[in-house]
Amino acid sequence: YLAIDAGPIHDEDGKLIAVVETLRDTTDQKRAEMALKTLAAKDGLTGLANRRAFDQALEGEELRAQRSGQPLSLLFVDVDHFKLFNDKHGHQSGDECLRAVAAIVGAQALRPVDLAARYGGEEFAVILPETDRDGACVVAERIRHAVMGLKIAHGAPRAGHFVTLSVGVATQIPTLDLAPDSLLGQADQALYAAKRLGRNRVTSSDTMLADVAGFIAAKRAKRSAQR
Ligand code: GH3
Ligand code: MG
Ligand code: MG
Repeated sequence: YLAIDAGPIHDEDGKLIAVVETLRDTTDQKRAEMALKTLAAKDGLTGLANRRAFDQALEGEELRAQRSGQPLSLLFVDVDHFKLFNDKHGHQSGDECLRAVAAIVGAQALRPVDLAARYGGEEFAVILPETDRDGACVVAERIRHAVMGLKIAHGAPRAGHFVTLSVGVATQIPTLDLAPDSLLGQADQALYAAKRLGRNRVTSSDTMLADVAGFIAAKRAKRSAQR
């Protein structure tokens, strides 16, 4: 990168007689600026996009989906019983676990347009442009299975032997009259339903009401069979 300054020199009659040019090498400065920009968009612990970069990307993808009419999907991924994990294994192991989970979440966001981010704490979010609900659920299940495959020991009371996660899936074709945060809200509700249904599962916002109703009916049936 080079920066050039040019200053004209005129004679007494105002005629241009020379130009003084200064050439500066700004490569180092430019590199530092770019590194800073990348750093500002990344989460320090996991190296994934941070919340700020996620918010920006989601806004951009919602606008793009409004124009294209293509579905836009969002995954909310949350580690199950992570407070208990920290309590049992220590905060440092907790950080290592988050890094391992993040690596999987990042690796499963396969296409260049997909964006995996650390949304906060032990929550991750994945933006999947031009992806319908079924496609998004496939990605979500891949993430869930891959994390189970790591076999990170958990073992706290009430948690399973290994670390698992729950995923909420939401899909929309954004339209102008939809509230800006509605996709986020739906993914969050789906995640909440996944937790309620017993964790270590993928729940989509389209099916969560039916899933919860089925869960309650099954519980009732079990109870009355026991009587
Ligand atoms: P649930 O299955 O319902 O999601 O339960 P949970 O325990 O995972 O959820 P909760 O929100 O109660 O606890 C989240 C925990 O994540 C609490 C917090 O200490 C831990 N946590 C958040 N950020 C970090 C981090 O950067 N490193 C570590 N080690 N722990 C973190
Ligand atoms: Mg959480
Ligand atoms: Mg959690």
